[in-house]
Amino acid sequence: MLKQMQVKVTNRGTIDAPYGKYNTNVPSVFAAGDNRRGQSLVVWAIHEGREAARECDRYLMGDTILP
Ligand SMILES: Cc1cc2nc3c(=O)[nH]c(=O)nc-3n(C[C@H](O)[C@H](O)[C@H](O)COP(=O)(O)OP(=O)(O)OC[C@H]3O[C@@H](n4cnc5c(N)ncnc54)[C@H](O)[C@@H]3O)c2cc1C
Repeated sequence: MLKQMQVKVTNRGTIDAPYGKYNTNVPSVFAAGDNRRGQSLVVWAIHEGREAARECDRYLMGDTILP
């Protein structure tokens, strides 16, 4: 799927998306959790999921009030 969508991956095989921003090289495509940081802990997945939702909101609305 990543190949089809031409989403850039790192040499570790994770999706290349910066921590805190979560955007990929493909407009409107965001990544968070294990597929971005590699195998990790569920608390990180929850944390990144919440932050990525905020960044999606900012991307769509121009601003965000999400925590
Ligand atoms: C065996 C094992 C034990 C673990 N034990 C612990 C533990 O004790 N404590 C802890 O903190 N963490 C543990 N972890 C790690 C934790 O499970 C992960 O860090 C966390 O689940 C990552 O969440 P995620 O949402 O990023 O990814 P995932 O939970 O993997 O969610 C990804 C979802 O995407 C779906 N998906 C994949 N491809 C597609 C597609 N093409 N289309 C639609 N859906 C798709 C999958 O079905 C899945 O539901 C463990 C992991 C494993 C494998």
